[in-house]
Amino acid sequence: MNGRMLRELELTEVYALVQGERRKAEGGRQHDEISSPAHSPLPKTIPDAPSAFRLPPSSSSMSWAELREAAATCAACGLCRARKQAVFGVGAEHGPWLFVGEGPGADEDEQGEPFVGQAGKLLDSMLAAAGLQRGRDTYIANVVKCRPPGNRTPTPEEAAACAPFLERQVDLVSPKVIVALGKTAAAHLLATDASVGSMRGKVHDYRGRPVVVTYHPAYLLRNLPDKAKAWEDLLFARRVFAG
Ligand code: URA
Repeated sequence: MNGRMLRELELTEVYALVQGERRKAEGGRQHDEISSPAHSPLPKTIPDAPSAFRLPPSSSSMSWAELREAAATCAACGLCRARKQAVFGVGAEHGPWLFVGEGPGADEDEQGEPFVGQAGKLLDSMLAAAGLQRGRDTYIANVVKCRPPGNRTPTPEEAAACAPFLERQVDLVSPKVIVALGKTAAAHLLATDASVGSMRGKVHDYRGRPVVVTYHPAYLLRNLPDKAKAWEDLLFARRVFAG
């Protein structure tokens, strides 16, 4: 990481900390990586969405355009009721990197793109530090495509209802490495309730593809010392990528 990138990260963090404190006061999502706040513990097995809520089997063969359209009109769980719009995903549709977050927040719900708020600015800085860039070699998606009210953690049922979208996104991107950002993404992809700390530094598997787990950028904004660990995780992911 060069000096300019470090400076960018630091500036972003100072600004984000101020914003973060404001959001905390407004009841924003906390991204506690030790235990999942609103709905812990997550079950070992992610429950299936009720069959009436499932996407048609054809979702597994949908094109990007069809999948995006299906997400925009999806009513598979209650999150559709409060969303301004579904936040589908953004970036390089053929990867080779895929980063998976939790779900849209207020900024993302407004703008229709994942990670555009303060956590997103930090994510972009982290990507830049690792020589990556959204849109160029990196696709960014979330476990759920619609904003959970009050920025709460999505329930396992909501994650399960949305799973066909992420599954198809993974197939279409066909990433060489998936980076799970935070506990919710890791729990959903890997069907585990393990802590982020215990999953770091190992290669996990999601339907035959390597998964590396690191902290969620929103968590890092509140726990600056762990930023160094996230940097280690990205270096580790690069080694996994290189094979
Ligand atoms: N947090 C997430 O997990 N995803 C976003 O898109 C924004 C914030």
